Amino acid sequence: MTVVTRFPPSPTGFMHVGNARTALFNWLYARHHGGKFVVRIEDTDRKRHSEEAVQAIKDGLKWMGLDYDGEIVSQFSRMDRHAEVAQQMLDNGQAYYCYCTPEELEVMRETALKEGRKTFYDRRWRDRSPAPGDVSEEIKPVVRIKAPLEGETTIRDHVQGDVTVRNDQLDDFVLLRSDGTPTYMLSVVVDDHDAGVTDILRGDDHLNNTFRQKVIYDAMGWNLPEFSHLPLIHGQDGGKFSKRHGAQGVHEYEGLGYLSEAFCNYLLRLGWSHGDDEIIPRDKAVEWFNLENIGQSPARFDTAKLDHLNAHYIKTLEADDLLSRCAPFYLERHEIVLDETGRGRIVAGIEELKSRAKTLLQFVDESVFYAKVVPFSYDEKALAMVEEAQDVLRALHDGLSMVTDFTSDAIQDVCKGVAASMADGKLGKVAMPLRAAVTGTTVSPSIFHACEILGQQETCARIQAAIKA
Ligand code: GLU
Repeated sequence: MTVVTRFPPSPTGFMHVGNARTALFNWLYARHHGGKFVVRIEDTDRKRHSEEAVQAIKDGLKWMGLDYDGEIVSQFSRMDRHAEVAQQMLDNGQAYYCYCTPEELEVMRETALKEGRKTFYDRRWRDRSPAPGDVSEEIKPVVRIKAPLEGETTIRDHVQGDVTVRNDQLDDFVLLRSDGTPTYMLSVVVDDHDAGVTDILRGDDHLNNTFRQKVIYDAMGWNLPEFSHLPLIHGQDGGKFSKRHGAQGVHEYEGLGYLSEAFCNYLLRLGWSHGDDEIIPRDKAVEWFNLENIGQSPARFDTAKLDHLNAHYIKTLEADDLLSRCAPFYLERHEIVLDETGRGRIVAGIEELKSRAKTLLQFVDESVFYAKVVPFSYDEKALAMVEEAQDVLRALHDGLSMVTDFTSDAIQDVCKGVAASMADGKLGKVAMPLRAAVTGTTVSPSIFHACEILGQQETCARIQAAIKA
C-alpha cells in the first residue's frame, strides 16, 4: 500500500513553527516510503479564508523545500461531499437528526457542568423521530452521529502508545450544523479517507479528536489511518511555545536570516532523533526518518541550537549560493546591489565572514562594507571613534600609503608603528579607528586582512575620507 500523508493547515495568515514541523514530519515520512504528501487547506470557516493566507502556506512549504503531490485541496470546495457522507450515515441509521433548541442545549450543558460530566448531550433524539407538531417548524435540525454507548475505544498511536477512553466519554457529536454545513470532525475524516491518507502525524492537541474521528471511520466501514500524535513544542521555560519564546512564523525565520536547511534540520531534531546526530541534511533525513524515534515528551525550542545549526549550514554554502541568498538583505538593509568589485572583495574574505556568521543578516551586516563606495556614512560609535582619532588616522594614512607590498602583515606592522609612537604601544587604539574609518562600523572581521582585500588605494581613500569628516 502506498503511504499517503497529509498537511491540512487552517489558513491563519502565516505558517506557524509547529505547523512547519508537522509538515516536515509528514513530508519526510512520505518521501522515506516513496509515497505521497498531500496538502489541504481547512478553509471551511470562510471568515478566515483569504488568498494571502493560502499563499503564506505555499510560500512556507516552498521555502522549506517541501513539495507536495497534486494540487492543494480546498476543504470548502468539498462540502457537498461531506454532506453526502452525512446523508449516507443517516440512511444507514448511523446518524440522526437532532431538533434540540439552543435553550434546551444550554440546560443540558449547565446540568453536565454541575455534575462534572464532560459530555452533555443527553441523546434525546437518538432513537426518536418527531411526531407531527412535535417540534416547531422553525427548528432546523443538526445531524448527530450515533457514538457507541458501551465499551471502550483504543487508539494505537505510534508515539503515545495505546490510548483508551471509555465510550461514554464520547458524545453524539454534530456532523452537520443546522444550516447544513459540515463540522471539522466530519470534513477532516471524509477528506483524509478520499485522499487515501494512510498515516496521520499531527500535534497531540488533536488526540481527543481522534477518538471521535474513529467513530466516523467505523460508522462508514473505512480503514482507520495510522496515527502519530507529536508532543507540542514548548519554550525554554517549559510553557507552550509562544511569542515570548521566539518568532512564531516560518517567514519570520526566513527574514531573520536563517537558512531553510538549518531551520528544517532544527525542526527535525525538535521531536525526532537519530542517535546523537545533530547535523542531519535533507537526504539523510529522508533516509533515516521513522516513527519509532519520535520523542514522547515535548521538546523545548532553543534559539541557540538553531543558531548553531545555521552557522554550520552557512559555512557549507558555496559563495554564489550564499550571496544570492543574501542579495535581498543587502538591498533591504543597506540599499546595496553587489557589483563586481564588492562581490569580488566579499568572495576574497568569505571564509572569515562565514566563520563568524550565525545568520545571513550577520553575514550581510559584516560584509557590506566591502561593497560601500567612498564617501559613506558611519554608525554612531564609528563616527565618534573617527572624530576622536584624527591624528592616528593621519599617521595611518601616511604610513599605509608608503607600504610597497600591501599585505595584512605589512598593514599590521604600520599599525604597530603608529601605536608605538602615538598610543603607548596599544594596537587596539589604532586598529579600532582604522576599522571605523574603513568599514564605517565597529564590528568586522580582521581589519588588517580586510584592508589587504580592499587594496592600498581603496584603504587609503577611506582613511582620507574619514580625516576630512
Ligand atoms: N487544521 C488543523 C490544524 O491546523 C489540522 C487538523 C488535522 O491535522 O487533522 O490544526
